[in-house]
Amino acid sequence: MALQSSGVKRQKKIAEWEIRIQLLHQKYPRLEEISNLYGRYSLELALVELGNGRMGIDREEIIKSQEALMQERKDIVIKNRLPDNIYNIWWDCEICKDTGFAEPGKKCSCRLQELFLERWRESGLSPEQERQTFGSFSLDWYNDKEKHHENLGRCIDFADQVSNNQSVENLFLYGPVGTGKTHLCSSIANYVLQAGKSVIYLKTSQLLDLIRQYKFNNSQDEQSNNQKLKHLYQVALLIIDDLGTENSSDFVKEQLLLLLDERINYHLPWVISTNLTPNEIGTMYEDRLSDRILGTSQMLRFDGESIRRQKKLLKKDVVSNK
Ligand SMILES: [Zn+2]
Repeated sequence: MALQSSGVKRQKKIAEWEIRIQLLHQKYPRLEEISNLYGRYSLELALVELGNGRMGIDREEIIKSQEALMQERKDIVIKNRLPDNIYNIWWDCEICKDTGFAEPGKKCSCRLQELFLERWRESGLSPEQERQTFGSFSLDWYNDKEKHHENLGRCIDFADQVSNNQSVENLFLYGPVGTGKTHLCSSIANYVLQAGKSVIYLKTSQLLDLIRQYKFNNSQDEQSNNQKLKHLYQVALLIIDDLGTENSSDFVKEQLLLLLDERINYHLPWVISTNLTPNEIGTMYEDRLSDRILGTSQMLRFDGESIRRQKKLLKKDVVSNK
């Protein structure tokens, strides 16, 4: 979902305030009288300043009358248990009054927070993946703890370098299903998002859907799809999970090659994970594409029993031992 522009948001708040005051005045006619009188005194004050007063009273008297009106309004508000800020516009953020800028050219903290959450929403991570971090990655499931500890370290280094705009070799994570690759993809994504960079995470099937819709233009959200595809070319970090599970046509492979080439040209990194071996990738894709995928990357191999399967077995054991 796109963010509401601050202009639209402000207009809505102002419209809401106008309606609120109108209803208030319908219910409490004396409050409306007070507002009208106050306005008349303000006008008179301006005329007196110009030496053109019409009521025949001086400046001091006008100010006193206005103060009395404000006191009366306050009393009515208290007596009727109305919110004491009922005459204010109810901004979401009092600091910037919903403009998004704390001062000219400087974004307000509310806006920064919004952008932060928006990057997460646009990342494509599922709620479960948003909780997957390097800290929650456990080595307990692996026989070869040393190697997977090294894999973890390389993923952390990668995420750190991307976060700090350093040039970095892409990552190629491969190994059987359920050996922790997706957990590390999510951890990298969360780390880089936390650092304020944009990340797109996609299963290969989603990526191919985007490319196909782009080709056939048969989607109702045609424009938003094209924008999404364009975003893949420019996002600070692209993560493609589960490569090789797809049944891809020449067109799709061509598009994938274009995408990776463009990202290489702009020094934008990616992470690819797959259940296939590098050899299988080499057989599946023609040379140009497999060169891009394999030739530009650090290769991290994962192996062992599926973590999901181990967890399931463990649960069964616990249950049967009861
Ligand atoms: Zn603000």
